Parts: sequence; structure tokens; C-alpha cells
Amino acid sequence: MKPTITRPPVKPTSGSARWLTRPDSAGAGQLVLRTAAGIDRLYQTAALLDQGRLVGWSLTRLGTGETYHLDTSAEAWSCDCPAFTFTAHKRGPCKHILGLAAALRKIGWEM
Ligand SMILES: [Zn+2]
Repeated sequence: MKPTITRPPVKPTSGSARWLTRPDSAGAGQLVLRTAAGIDRLYQTAALLDQGRLVGWSLTRLGTGETYHLDTSAEAWSCDCPAFTFTAHKRGPCKHILGLAAALRKIGWEM
């Protein structure tokens, strides 16, 4: 008999982002993004302003200090992480974009 290979169901990305600390008016907060493997990663967030206008966010991963910059000034958000830089053309937004967007929606942040 042939073994059956079952694929685990793909979890919705929107459910994998939550605030540990909600962002203050400067966008400083602590965001938890859960990886596909179920590992929580903690990021410090900050709003990026251009002459007082919100143009993006930075996500700094606690522990490693890796920082990703999200440009949210255009309709389609972009991120400077490797996943987005190299695979966005076929895979779409990275986990930072999906996670941050979902987390901001949850708290009713004006985007
Ligand atoms: Zn990213």
C-alpha cells in the first residue's frame, strides 16, 4: 500500500499577528508575528514619517536586531526583506506586510 502524504492546511496569515503592546502615536509598539512553523517572533515597531506624514513602518526583530522597512505610502505596500525583494513578484506580500496590515486593522489604525 502506498503511503498517503497529507499537506497541513495553510493557516490564514491574518490570524498570526497580534500586538503585545499597542503602538503609541509615534507607532512605537511590540508586534508578535507567528511564522508558518508556529514560532512567535517579536518585533519593535516604529512609524516612518516624511514631513509629518506616515509613509511606512520599521519592524526591528528583538534578539537579532534585524530591521525591515515597510513602505506604506503607495496603495501596494512594499518591504525590504529578502522574501519580498526576491519573491513578491510570484508570491505577493511578505509576512511583515500581511502581519502588520492585519494587526493595524485589528486596532482600527487609520492606514
Ligand atoms: Zn517583509
